[in-house]
Amino acid sequence: MLSRIKDIAANLAPRLIEIRRHLHSHPELSGQEYQTAAYAAGVLSSCGLRVQELVGKTGVVAELEGTGEDQRLLAIRADMDALPIQERTELEFASHQPGIMHSCGHDVHTTVGLGTAMILSQLATSLPGTVRFLFQPAEETAQGAGWMIQDGVMEGVDAILGVHVFPTIPAGSVGIRYGALTAAADDLELIIIGESGHGARPHEAIDAIWIASQVITTLQQAISRTQNPLRPVVLTIGQIHGGRAPNVIADQVRMLGTVRSLHPETSAALPNWIETIVANVCQSYGATYKLNYRRGVPSVQNDSALTQIVELSAREAWGSDRVQILPEPSLGAEDFSLYLDHAPGTMFRLGVGFSDKPNYPLHHPQFHVDEAAIVTGVVTMAYAAYKYWLHGAYSCPI
Ligand SMILES: [Zn+2]
Ligand SMILES: [Zn+2]
Repeated sequence: MLSRIKDIAANLAPRLIEIRRHLHSHPELSGQEYQTAAYAAGVLSSCGLRVQELVGKTGVVAELEGTGEDQRLLAIRADMDALPIQERTELEFASHQPGIMHSCGHDVHTTVGLGTAMILSQLATSLPGTVRFLFQPAEETAQGAGWMIQDGVMEGVDAILGVHVFPTIPAGSVGIRYGALTAAADDLELIIIGESGHGARPHEAIDAIWIASQVITTLQQAISRTQNPLRPVVLTIGQIHGGRAPNVIADQVRMLGTVRSLHPETSAALPNWIETIVANVCQSYGATYKLNYRRGVPSVQNDSALTQIVELSAREAWGSDRVQILPEPSLGAEDFSLYLDHAPGTMFRLGVGFSDKPNYPLHHPQFHVDEAAIVTGVVTMAYAAYKYWLHGAYSCPI
Protein backbone atom coordinates (compact mmCIF):
# COMPACT_ATOMS: atom_id res chain seq x y z
CA MET A 1 0.00 0.00 0.00
CA LEU A 2 2.81 2.42 0.83
CA SER A 3 4.38 2.08 -2.61
CA ARG A 4 0.98 2.59 -4.27
CA ILE A 5 0.46 5.76 -2.21
CA LYS A 6 3.95 7.01 -3.07
CA ASP A 7 3.45 6.31 -6.79
CA ILE A 8 0.14 8.19 -6.89
CA ALA A 9 1.68 11.09 -4.94
CA ALA A 10 4.65 11.28 -7.31
CA ASN A 11 2.27 11.50 -10.28
CA LEU A 12 0.17 14.12 -8.54
CA ALA A 13 3.15 16.26 -7.45
CA PRO A 14 3.02 18.82 -10.30
CA ARG A 15 -0.75 19.24 -9.83
CA LEU A 16 -0.34 19.65 -6.07
CA ILE A 17 2.26 22.38 -6.57
CA GLU A 18 -0.11 24.09 -9.00
CA ILE A 19 -2.90 23.92 -6.37
CA ARG A 20 -0.65 25.29 -3.64
CA ARG A 21 0.54 28.17 -5.81
CA HIS A 22 -3.03 29.04 -6.77
CA LEU A 23 -4.02 29.11 -3.08
CA HIS A 24 -0.91 31.07 -2.16
CA SER A 25 -1.58 33.80 -4.68
CA HIS A 26 -5.28 34.07 -3.69
CA PRO A 27 -5.21 34.33 0.13
CA GLU A 28 -8.33 35.25 2.10
CA LEU A 29 -8.70 36.46 5.68
CA SER A 30 -10.30 34.46 8.49
CA GLY A 31 -14.02 33.94 7.94
CA GLN A 32 -13.87 35.20 4.35
CA GLU A 33 -12.48 32.08 2.64
CA TYR A 34 -15.20 31.98 -0.05
CA GLN A 35 -12.95 31.52 -3.11
CA THR A 36 -10.63 29.11 -1.31
CA ALA A 37 -13.57 27.02 -0.14
CA ALA A 38 -15.16 26.97 -3.61
CA TYR A 39 -11.83 25.97 -5.13
CA ALA A 40 -11.33 23.16 -2.59
CA ALA A 41 -14.92 21.98 -3.09
CA GLY A 42 -14.29 21.82 -6.86
CA VAL A 43 -11.20 19.64 -6.44
CA LEU A 44 -12.98 17.36 -3.96
CA SER A 45 -16.05 16.95 -6.20
CA SER A 46 -13.84 16.07 -9.14
CA CYS A 47 -12.42 13.18 -7.04
CA GLY A 48 -15.95 11.84 -6.52
CA LEU A 49 -16.31 12.82 -2.86
CA ARG A 50 -19.62 13.87 -1.33
CA VAL A 51 -19.08 17.59 -0.69
CA GLN A 52 -20.93 20.03 1.57
CA GLU A 53 -20.14 23.73 1.37
CA LEU A 54 -20.74 26.64 3.77
CA VAL A 55 -20.30 24.45 6.83
CA GLY A 56 -19.02 26.44 9.81
CA LYS A 57 -19.65 29.65 7.80
CA THR A 58 -17.10 29.20 4.98
CA GLY A 59 -15.86 25.66 5.63
CA VAL A 60 -16.07 22.58 3.41
CA VAL A 61 -16.74 19.00 4.46
CA ALA A 62 -16.21 16.06 2.12
CA GLU A 63 -16.68 12.36 2.73
CA LEU A 64 -14.92 9.49 1.05
CA GLU A 65 -16.58 6.16 1.67
CA GLY A 66 -14.43 3.09 2.03
CA THR A 67 -15.63 -0.50 1.74
CA GLY A 68 -17.62 -0.19 4.97
CA GLU A 69 -16.04 -3.20 6.72
CA ASP A 70 -14.91 -0.90 9.51
CA GLN A 71 -17.54 1.42 10.98
CA ARG A 72 -15.06 3.88 12.46
CA LEU A 73 -14.95 7.33 10.95
CA LEU A 74 -11.63 9.14 10.58
CA ALA A 75 -11.53 12.92 10.15
CA ILE A 76 -8.67 14.80 8.50
CA ARG A 77 -8.53 18.54 9.14
CA ALA A 78 -6.95 21.35 7.13
CA ASP A 79 -7.28 25.09 7.74
CA MET A 80 -7.67 27.59 4.89
CA ASP A 81 -7.26 31.17 6.15
CA ALA A 82 -4.43 33.67 5.60
CA LEU A 83 -3.15 36.61 7.64
CA PRO A 84 -3.32 40.42 7.38
CA ILE A 85 0.35 40.68 6.37
CA GLN A 86 1.87 42.33 3.29
CA GLU A 87 3.89 39.63 1.53
CA ARG A 88 7.55 40.48 0.97
CA THR A 89 8.74 37.37 -0.87
CA GLU A 90 9.92 37.64 -4.45
CA LEU A 91 7.87 34.61 -5.50
CA GLU A 92 6.27 34.69 -8.94
CA PHE A 93 3.10 33.34 -7.33
CA ALA A 94 3.17 35.83 -4.42
CA SER A 95 -0.13 37.12 -3.03
CA HIS A 96 -2.39 39.01 -5.44
CA GLN A 97 -4.23 40.50 -2.46
CA PRO A 98 -2.56 43.59 -1.00
CA GLY A 99 -2.01 43.19 2.72
CA ILE A 100 -3.04 39.52 2.87
CA MET A 101 -0.63 36.60 2.89
CA HIS A 102 -0.46 32.87 3.53
CA SER A 103 2.38 33.25 5.99
CA CYS A 104 1.27 30.44 8.30
CA GLY A 105 1.31 27.79 5.57
CA HIS A 106 -2.44 27.14 5.54
CA ASP A 107 -2.16 27.04 1.72
CA VAL A 108 0.06 23.98 2.22
CA HIS A 109 -2.36 22.46 4.74
CA THR A 110 -5.27 22.84 2.31
CA THR A 111 -3.12 21.31 -0.45
CA VAL A 112 -2.15 18.39 1.79
CA GLY A 113 -5.82 17.83 2.64
CA LEU A 114 -6.80 17.92 -1.04
CA GLY A 115 -3.85 15.73 -2.06
CA THR A 116 -4.75 13.17 0.60
CA ALA A 117 -8.34 13.14 -0.71
CA MET A 118 -7.04 12.68 -4.27
CA ILE A 119 -4.82 9.74 -3.25
CA LEU A 120 -7.35 7.99 -1.01
CA SER A 121 -10.12 8.40 -3.60
CA GLN A 122 -7.99 6.31 -5.97
CA LEU A 123 -7.63 3.67 -3.26
CA ALA A 124 -11.22 3.70 -1.98
CA THR A 125 -11.77 0.00 -2.67
CA SER A 126 -8.87 -0.77 -0.31
CA LEU A 127 -10.06 1.53 2.50
CA PRO A 128 -12.06 -0.28 5.18
CA GLY A 129 -13.67 2.85 6.62
CA THR A 130 -14.87 6.34 5.79
CA VAL A 131 -12.75 9.50 5.84
CA ARG A 132 -14.32 12.90 6.49
CA PHE A 133 -12.23 15.82 5.29
CA LEU A 134 -12.69 19.08 7.19
CA PHE A 135 -11.52 22.28 5.53
CA GLN A 136 -12.06 24.88 8.20
CA PRO A 137 -12.05 28.67 8.12
CA ALA A 138 -10.68 31.14 10.66
CA GLU A 139 -7.98 29.21 12.49
CA GLU A 140 -5.95 32.37 12.99
CA THR A 141 -8.75 33.95 14.99
CA ALA A 142 -9.38 30.66 16.85
CA GLN A 143 -13.03 30.67 15.72
CA GLY A 144 -13.23 28.26 12.79
CA ALA A 145 -13.01 24.93 14.61
CA GLY A 146 -15.82 26.03 16.94
CA TRP A 147 -18.02 27.04 13.98
CA MET A 148 -17.40 23.69 12.30
CA ILE A 149 -18.17 21.73 15.47
CA GLN A 150 -21.39 23.72 15.99
CA ASP A 151 -22.45 22.60 12.53
CA GLY A 152 -21.99 18.98 13.58
CA VAL A 153 -18.79 17.98 11.74
CA MET A 154 -17.55 15.86 14.65
CA GLU A 155 -20.72 13.77 14.89
CA GLY A 156 -19.73 10.12 14.57
CA VAL A 157 -16.00 10.90 14.28
CA ASP A 158 -13.77 8.35 16.06
CA ALA A 159 -10.37 9.98 15.49
CA ILE A 160 -8.95 13.08 13.84
CA LEU A 161 -5.61 13.89 12.19
CA GLY A 162 -4.13 17.31 11.49
CA VAL A 163 -0.91 18.84 10.22
CA HIS A 164 0.96 22.14 10.59
CA VAL A 165 4.01 23.28 8.66
CA PHE A 166 7.20 24.06 10.58
CA PRO A 167 10.07 26.04 9.04
CA THR A 168 12.79 24.86 11.45
CA ILE A 169 12.33 21.24 10.31
CA PRO A 170 13.80 20.60 6.84
CA ALA A 171 11.44 19.72 3.99
CA GLY A 172 11.26 15.96 3.61
CA SER A 173 11.13 15.42 7.38
CA VAL A 174 8.25 15.39 9.82
CA GLY A 175 8.05 16.24 13.52
CA ILE A 176 6.13 14.04 15.92
CA ARG A 177 5.12 15.17 19.35
CA TYR A 178 3.65 12.99 22.10
CA GLY A 179 1.43 14.76 24.64
CA ALA A 180 1.09 18.54 24.62
CA LEU A 181 1.80 20.09 21.21
CA THR A 182 0.54 23.65 21.74
CA ALA A 183 -0.59 25.81 24.65
CA ALA A 184 -3.95 26.88 25.97
CA ALA A 185 -4.32 30.54 25.03
CA ASP A 186 -6.75 32.88 26.78
CA ASP A 187 -7.34 36.63 26.53
CA LEU A 188 -7.35 39.04 29.39
CA GLU A 189 -8.83 42.52 29.71
CA LEU A 190 -8.22 44.27 33.00
CA ILE A 191 -9.37 47.74 33.99
CA ILE A 192 -7.92 49.27 37.17
CA ILE A 193 -10.15 51.99 38.56
CA GLY A 194 -8.67 54.61 40.90
CA GLU A 195 -9.46 58.26 41.51
CA SER A 196 -8.13 61.26 39.65
CA GLY A 197 -6.30 64.10 41.35
CA HIS A 198 -3.54 66.71 41.09
CA GLY A 199 -0.15 65.25 40.15
CA ALA A 200 1.38 67.05 43.10
CA ARG A 201 -1.09 65.69 45.67
CA PRO A 202 -0.98 61.87 45.39
CA HIS A 203 -2.39 61.36 48.91
CA GLU A 204 -5.72 62.81 47.74
CA ALA A 205 -6.02 60.46 44.75
CA ILE A 206 -5.82 56.76 43.90
CA ASP A 207 -3.18 56.40 41.21
CA ALA A 208 -4.42 53.80 38.70
CA ILE A 209 -1.11 53.83 36.77
CA TRP A 210 0.98 53.02 39.82
CA ILE A 211 -1.48 50.32 40.94
CA ALA A 212 -1.49 48.84 37.43
CA SER A 213 2.30 48.62 37.58
CA GLN A 214 2.02 46.84 40.95
CA VAL A 215 -0.52 44.42 39.49
CA ILE A 216 1.74 43.56 36.54
CA THR A 217 4.83 43.16 38.72
CA THR A 218 2.99 41.02 41.28
CA LEU A 219 1.51 38.78 38.59
CA GLN A 220 4.91 38.19 36.97
CA GLN A 221 6.60 37.51 40.31
CA ALA A 222 3.76 35.29 41.47
CA ILE A 223 4.19 33.09 38.38
CA SER A 224 7.78 32.51 39.48
CA ARG A 225 6.90 31.91 43.17
CA THR A 226 3.48 30.23 43.18
CA GLN A 227 3.15 28.33 39.89
CA ASN A 228 4.77 24.93 39.45
CA PRO A 229 7.87 25.69 37.34
CA LEU A 230 7.43 22.36 35.54
CA ARG A 231 3.99 23.52 34.37
CA PRO A 232 4.73 26.73 32.50
CA VAL A 233 2.54 29.80 32.53
CA VAL A 234 3.20 32.82 30.33
CA LEU A 235 1.30 36.04 30.95
CA THR A 236 1.98 38.89 28.56
CA ILE A 237 0.37 42.30 28.89
CA GLY A 238 0.66 43.50 25.33
CA GLN A 239 -1.33 46.73 25.56
CA ILE A 240 -1.77 49.31 28.29
CA HIS A 241 -3.62 52.62 28.16
CA GLY A 242 -4.26 55.21 30.85
CA GLY A 243 -3.97 58.80 31.89
CA ARG A 244 -4.72 62.15 30.26
CA ALA A 245 -1.99 64.62 31.23
CA PRO A 246 1.50 64.64 32.79
CA ASN A 247 0.30 66.40 35.93
CA VAL A 248 -3.01 64.59 36.45
CA ILE A 249 -3.19 61.32 38.34
CA ALA A 250 -4.89 58.72 36.16
CA ASP A 251 -8.20 57.36 37.37
CA GLN A 252 -8.26 54.40 34.97
CA VAL A 253 -5.87 52.03 33.24
CA ARG A 254 -6.93 49.40 30.73
CA MET A 255 -4.64 46.45 29.98
CA LEU A 256 -4.97 43.70 27.41
CA GLY A 257 -2.97 40.52 27.50
CA THR A 258 -2.63 36.87 26.59
CA VAL A 259 -2.27 33.96 29.00
CA ARG A 260 -0.62 30.67 27.93
CA SER A 261 -0.32 27.35 29.73
CA LEU A 262 0.21 23.70 28.85
CA HIS A 263 -1.45 21.63 31.57
CA PRO A 264 -5.24 21.42 31.66
CA GLU A 265 -5.37 21.70 35.48
CA THR A 266 -3.17 24.79 35.44
CA SER A 267 -5.29 26.28 32.70
CA ALA A 268 -8.49 25.62 34.66
CA ALA A 269 -7.11 27.37 37.75
CA LEU A 270 -5.68 30.48 36.04
CA PRO A 271 -8.74 32.79 35.98
CA ASN A 272 -9.23 32.56 39.76
CA TRP A 273 -5.51 32.74 40.45
CA ILE A 274 -5.21 35.96 38.43
CA GLU A 275 -8.33 37.49 39.93
CA THR A 276 -7.17 36.84 43.50
CA ILE A 277 -3.88 38.64 42.87
CA VAL A 278 -5.56 41.56 41.09
CA ALA A 279 -8.17 41.89 43.86
CA ASN A 280 -5.57 41.80 46.64
CA VAL A 281 -3.32 44.43 45.06
CA CYS A 282 -6.23 46.72 44.21
CA GLN A 283 -7.71 46.38 47.70
CA SER A 284 -4.36 47.22 49.32
CA TYR A 285 -4.34 50.63 47.66
CA GLY A 286 -8.04 51.45 47.51
CA ALA A 287 -8.65 50.75 43.81
CA THR A 288 -11.33 48.62 42.20
CA TYR A 289 -11.10 46.65 38.98
CA LYS A 290 -13.01 44.95 36.19
CA LEU A 291 -11.54 41.71 34.92
CA ASN A 292 -12.74 40.09 31.73
CA TYR A 293 -11.04 36.71 31.27
CA ARG A 294 -11.99 35.17 27.94
CA ARG A 295 -11.25 31.51 27.33
CA GLY A 296 -9.53 31.00 24.00
CA VAL A 297 -8.51 27.53 22.94
CA PRO A 298 -7.27 24.68 25.10
CA SER A 299 -3.89 23.00 24.68
CA VAL A 300 -3.57 20.44 21.85
CA GLN A 301 -2.94 17.14 23.62
CA ASN A 302 -1.91 14.54 21.07
CA ASP A 303 -3.34 11.07 21.65
CA SER A 304 -0.44 8.65 22.04
CA ALA A 305 -1.85 5.70 20.05
CA LEU A 306 -2.73 7.92 17.07
CA THR A 307 0.60 9.73 17.34
CA GLN A 308 2.29 6.35 17.19
CA ILE A 309 0.38 5.49 14.00
CA VAL A 310 1.61 8.70 12.36
CA GLU A 311 5.15 8.16 13.65
CA LEU A 312 5.31 4.60 12.31
CA SER A 313 3.78 5.66 8.99
CA ALA A 314 6.42 8.39 8.60
CA ARG A 315 9.29 6.11 9.63
CA GLU A 316 8.19 3.49 7.10
CA ALA A 317 7.68 6.06 4.37
CA TRP A 318 10.80 8.20 4.86
CA GLY A 319 13.23 6.38 7.15
CA SER A 320 13.91 7.13 10.79
CA ASP A 321 16.44 9.89 10.09
CA ARG A 322 13.62 11.97 8.61
CA VAL A 323 11.34 11.64 11.62
CA GLN A 324 12.03 13.97 14.55
CA ILE A 325 10.47 13.25 17.93
CA LEU A 326 9.95 16.77 19.21
CA PRO A 327 11.14 17.17 22.82
CA GLU A 328 9.23 20.39 23.48
CA PRO A 329 5.75 21.73 22.88
CA SER A 330 5.09 25.21 21.53
CA LEU A 331 3.41 27.96 23.54
CA GLY A 332 1.62 28.99 20.36
CA ALA A 333 -2.07 28.12 20.10
CA GLU A 334 -4.07 26.04 17.64
CA ASP A 335 -7.84 25.59 17.55
CA PHE A 336 -7.38 21.95 16.47
CA SER A 337 -7.63 21.37 20.24
CA LEU A 338 -11.39 22.02 20.13
CA TYR A 339 -11.94 18.93 17.96
CA LEU A 340 -10.10 16.89 20.60
CA ASP A 341 -12.95 17.53 23.04
CA HIS A 342 -15.01 15.29 20.73
CA ALA A 343 -12.55 12.61 19.60
CA PRO A 344 -8.90 11.70 20.17
CA GLY A 345 -6.53 13.07 17.60
CA THR A 346 -3.02 14.03 16.72
CA MET A 347 -1.33 16.79 14.77
CA PHE A 348 2.10 16.36 13.24
CA ARG A 349 4.55 19.01 12.10
CA LEU A 350 5.50 19.03 8.45
CA GLY A 351 9.04 20.28 7.78
CA VAL A 352 9.07 22.98 5.09
CA GLY A 353 12.57 24.43 5.69
CA PHE A 354 15.04 25.02 2.87
CA SER A 355 18.49 23.54 3.35
CA ASP A 356 20.26 26.10 1.12
CA LYS A 357 18.68 29.45 2.04
CA PRO A 358 17.44 31.31 5.09
CA ASN A 359 14.14 30.24 6.59
CA TYR A 360 11.73 32.71 8.14
CA PRO A 361 9.34 32.07 11.03
CA LEU A 362 5.61 31.54 10.67
CA HIS A 363 3.69 34.86 10.34
CA HIS A 364 6.76 36.55 8.80
CA PRO A 365 6.25 38.60 5.58
CA GLN A 366 9.06 36.61 3.92
CA PHE A 367 7.89 33.19 5.14
CA HIS A 368 8.31 30.64 2.36
CA VAL A 369 8.18 26.86 2.08
CA ASP A 370 10.18 24.27 0.21
CA GLU A 371 7.41 22.70 -1.89
CA ALA A 372 9.13 19.30 -1.76
CA ALA A 373 7.35 19.07 1.61
CA ILE A 374 3.94 18.72 -0.05
CA VAL A 375 4.54 15.14 -1.21
CA THR A 376 5.96 14.30 2.24
CA GLY A 377 2.78 15.68 3.77
CA VAL A 378 0.27 13.90 1.55
CA VAL A 379 2.04 10.52 1.70
CA THR A 380 2.39 10.71 5.50
CA MET A 381 -1.26 11.70 5.91
CA ALA A 382 -2.66 9.18 3.42
CA TYR A 383 -0.59 6.31 4.78
CA ALA A 384 -1.41 7.18 8.41
CA ALA A 385 -5.11 7.22 7.47
CA TYR A 386 -4.76 3.77 5.91
CA LYS A 387 -2.82 2.44 8.92
CA TYR A 388 -5.51 3.77 11.27
CA TRP A 389 -7.85 1.03 10.06
CA LEU A 390 -5.09 -1.52 9.83
CA HIS A 391 -4.41 -1.32 13.53
CA GLY A 392 -7.83 -2.15 14.95
CA ALA A 393 -9.35 -0.02 17.68
CA TYR A 394 -7.43 3.22 17.97
CA SER A 395 -6.43 2.56 21.54
CA CYS A 396 -4.88 -0.88 20.87
CA PRO A 397 -1.13 -0.96 21.21
CA ILE A 398 0.51 -1.29 17.82
ZN1 LIG B 1 -0.74 31.15 12.25
ZN1 LIG C 1 -1.24 28.14 11.35
